[in-house]
Amino acid sequence: MTLNSPRGTKDFFGNDIKYRNFIINTARQLFYVYNYSEIITPAFEYTEVFSRSIGEETDIVQKEMYTFLDKKGRSLTLRPEGTASVVRALIENKLYSNRLPVKLFYIGNMFRYERPQKGRMREFWQLGVESIGIGSSIIDAEVIWLLNSFFKQLGFRNLILLINSIGCSKCRVKYILELKKYLKPFKGELCFDCQNRIDSNPLRIFDCKKEGCRKILEDSPKINSFLCSECKDHFEGVLNFLKILEINYEVNPNLVRGFDYYTKTIFEIISSDIKSAQNALGGGGRYDDLINQFGGPDIPATGFAIGIDRTLMLMKQQNINFDIKKEEPKVYVIVMDKNYQSFALEVVKFLRDKNFACDINFKIKNLSSELKLAEKSSYNFAVIIGEDEVNTGNITIKDIDKFKQYKINWKSQKNKIIKLIWSKK
Ligand SMILES: [Zn+2]
Ligand SMILES: [Zn+2]
Repeated sequence: MTLNSPRGTKDFFGNDIKYRNFIINTARQLFYVYNYSEIITPAFEYTEVFSRSIGEETDIVQKEMYTFLDKKGRSLTLRPEGTASVVRALIENKLYSNRLPVKLFYIGNMFRYERPQKGRMREFWQLGVESIGIGSSIIDAEVIWLLNSFFKQLGFRNLILLINSIGCSKCRVKYILELKKYLKPFKGELCFDCQNRIDSNPLRIFDCKKEGCRKILEDSPKINSFLCSECKDHFEGVLNFLKILEINYEVNPNLVRGFDYYTKTIFEIISSDIKSAQNALGGGGRYDDLINQFGGPDIPATGFAIGIDRTLMLMKQQNINFDIKKEEPKVYVIVMDKNYQSFALEVVKFLRDKNFACDINFKIKNLSSELKLAEKSSYNFAVIIGEDEVNTGNITIKDIDKFKQYKINWKSQKNKIIKLIWSKK
């Protein structure tokens, strides 16, 4: 019997790993530049961590969580997103007790029980940031700036930031009353889920993907015309900073996003090059009440998350190529006879001790097929150890890119090898 991976999961290898590493390394480099430090939280938490934060009425909590009882009957859930776990960890470890903001990033696998589609798996990988402790609009701008820089550095073009403010708990009360009033006459036309949402959580109707529900919302009252003066000033502040940072934005009053915990600024980044309804590359928002609701101090926060698998898929779709040659120069040592293997190992040891990427042919074949392989596997140099080389003590180095060949004395001219390889960088 052969075993396959479970539905909605995926193995990564070969070219996909190169894309993934490029995405993750670009992110790590930027997180360093923007002064974010890493946090690693468990892949599963007590179910309440997610149900209390994401919201009982959301699709994620109602339909998509991998929840199970452990052997002691405790309800655990594989994390469906990153923010709730970070907030739990922040409070538990009192990470807020020093200087604010606390700027954290995470990279990890998440789990949602959904119908698998291209770029949307049941186990998927996300990276994200949380900037915790400061409420002012300059923090929103910095988080958005980082999100924008990330996709720019990956090679995406024609980026547009969609942005909206969904207000604070004060201004939202008035808005929800108005929204309910508007929706009541359409109740029969909404889908079954949305009919229930009218009373329990009408904002979630904005997440519904059904055409009928979307149509009804087109003329609904918009939250950004109900903002209190504080929320209004805050939003204007964010937009002003975005202008200074030269980030292309569009205010989209229908943008709501699927989590209950958001307040004030929410955003999504899209590229106009992606011609599909689901063109969001990543997004996030402010969540000023969540930490307090979780039993932590009353401090505001904001953040974003990006799907790594989706980004990988879109990079391929958009034919975004990154320069693999930018990697360190690689050397292939070709040994022509079993008797010369110890000499060859000496050469490989020397190169590896100097931190050069190199490999050796473990199976003896003919020279021309080995050279072809070296070229195909994007090695920059081939070192040949054959009869002639062993007898004279002069090893042959081929510069594969330049079709040039050098003889270098192994005993007396080792440093010449290093210089030659370095010249590739
Ligand atoms: Zn407000
Ligand atoms: Zn609906």
